[in-house]
Amino acid sequence: MNFLEERIVKDGVVKAGNILKVDSFLNHQMDMRLFRQMGEEFKRRFADKPINKILTIEASGIGIACVAAECFDVPVVFAKKSQSVNIDGDVYVSEVESFTHKRVNRVIVSKKFLGPEDHILIIDDFLANGCALQGLISIVDQAGGTVEGIGIAIEKGFQPGGAKIREMGYPLESLAIVESMDDATGTVVFRPQP
Ligand code: 5GP
Repeated sequence: MNFLEERIVKDGVVKAGNILKVDSFLNHQMDMRLFRQMGEEFKRRFADKPINKILTIEASGIGIACVAAECFDVPVVFAKKSQSVNIDGDVYVSEVESFTHKRVNRVIVSKKFLGPEDHILIIDDFLANGCALQGLISIVDQAGGTVEGIGIAIEKGFQPGGAKIREMGYPLESLAIVESMDDATGTVVFRPQP
């Protein structure tokens, strides 16, 4: 098991409805030493890519993306959730269905911060059905930029997002891939990784 898998086994809680709760170290209280390890691992896995910017989504991807950005020495842009119906022409817009909150959020990125010259690493905390990632990919496409890679902390491999994104041809690296989990026993089984 790698460092993140070990931490999930130690402190993660399996909830009903296919939810893995990791709020004691990842998306509420945040363990910065663990984040540093994740950032360095993303840097190692995407070492050959000409990444000049990291893109993530509000809110829980931001912490991991910031630490990763330090490792890559590049800026971070996060897609903002926007309630506004009057979106002006200065932003890229995409609709993202939230897995945990079961509602559709409109997310926006200012055109000032993303363009055709950008080589993007997309970072997020979880990958489930892939809606968040598809929204972010659409924003990079609208900007004419290049998605160089996608880095995820925890992929739930029994949900379809990972397979969909890999089929689309994107280099996707998930630090921990949960193959199955059981809320009755609390067990989590990981997909073996090279
Ligand atoms: P997707 O768009 O891939 O269906 O879901 C990804 C988003 O849903 C992530 O950004 C994350 O915030 C949230 N999410 C999905 N599954 C889980 C889960 O099991 N636990 C937690 N804490 N968040 C999740």
